[in-house]
Amino acid sequence: MTDAAQQPAKETQKPQTFPAKAFAAQSATSRLAPHNIKRRSPRPQDVQLEILYCGVCHSDLHQTRNEWQHALPTVYPCVPGHEIVGRVVKVGSAVKKLKEGDIAAVGCLVDSCRKCAACLDGDEQYCENIATFTYNGEDKILGGVTYGGYSDSVVVDGDFVFRVPNGLDPAGAAPLLCAGITTYSPLRHWKIGKGQKVGIVGLGGLGHMGVKFAKALGAHVVLFTTSPKKTEDGIRLGASEVVVSKNEADMQKHAGSFDFILDAVSADHDVNAYLNLVKRNGTMVLVGAPEKPLPVGAFSLLLNRRRLAGSGIGGLRETQDLLDFCGEKGITADVEMIKIQQINEAYDRLLKSDVKYRFVIDMASLQ
Ligand code: NAP
Ligand code: ZN
Ligand code: ZN
Repeated sequence: MTDAAQQPAKETQKPQTFPAKAFAAQSATSRLAPHNIKRRSPRPQDVQLEILYCGVCHSDLHQTRNEWQHALPTVYPCVPGHEIVGRVVKVGSAVKKLKEGDIAAVGCLVDSCRKCAACLDGDEQYCENIATFTYNGEDKILGGVTYGGYSDSVVVDGDFVFRVPNGLDPAGAAPLLCAGITTYSPLRHWKIGKGQKVGIVGLGGLGHMGVKFAKALGAHVVLFTTSPKKTEDGIRLGASEVVVSKNEADMQKHAGSFDFILDAVSADHDVNAYLNLVKRNGTMVLVGAPEKPLPVGAFSLLLNRRRLAGSGIGGLRETQDLLDFCGEKGITADVEMIKIQQINEAYDRLLKSDVKYRFVIDMASLQ
């Protein structure tokens, strides 16, 4: 008998598929429009969700327009969406943590190697063998690329599906899966808490979650915004002070005073203006991912022995921790609900920093 003949049939057979409805971009310049895709029929380790809500991340816009072509080139058609909350409709026999009818969630990852040092540490997002992203990732099961949550259904390995605590509004919980974990993870990693002065730059989807979490962790929170009309909301969301970053004198009042600054800006901006506000041995973390590189002056770093770091989404354990933390504290995103047919208009508004503070698609509109 050859080795191949000894392989169990399931290793060599592609699973069956079923049709699903979606919205996709067909090129970097096309508007999103209806598109039919195939999902795999659930394997024993899989969970199938009927998608109820999907948040709209600025990364969806960067990716569909191929703005990250140097790091993560887009494969078309591209079905974005990685802030997914849905109802469990099928559960494979090997999945114990969920049952039919449960409300569950999927974030930015749908698989990873589970063997490398990063995976073993619970940092699956930094998998040394490249985690499979929820969309525009290599679909190792069906071939081609993965398709995201702008769709009526999704099938995901149960290890990458999260429980949504009872009592959390499912629409408001959807953005926790990216905007939430991306801001929570660095705040936890850098051990933010009471007695620390924390700056959050940019009041969009990520930024407004960052303000809520930094406040919930006990920090003194200062919001930096380019939009003076967001001042009141900044305070309501948990900031003690709001600085309009275009006002240089107001910026200077905070020079050298921050323990930690989280930069969640989606477009070109001057990071040196914020680095100068970091105190001795303090840290500034970039989570925003603008299309173009951001120049950093050496003196912005060497004065005060400052650190500039980055952080990408979060791991599996940490994401479930975050959902449970939000369940305990009653934290969800502030959402503007849209129909899927309004997605292109929502992207136009994102580019104008005009969202309060996360668009969430009501997937019932995808008929
Ligand atoms: P968003 O909702 O569009 O918010 C971005 C905010 O940045 C805006 O609301 C605005 O806040 C500020 N901003 C926009 N243009 C600006 C400019 N030219 N100068 C200064 N500030 C500007 O976007 P998001 O969904 O929160 O995402 C933010 C960034 O994080 C995106 O680049 C996204 O791709 C990235 N991201 C990274 C990760 C990760 O793993 N690291 C995960 C998710 C998203 P104000 O009006 O308050 O100034
Ligand atoms: Zn995202
Ligand atoms: Zn790995």
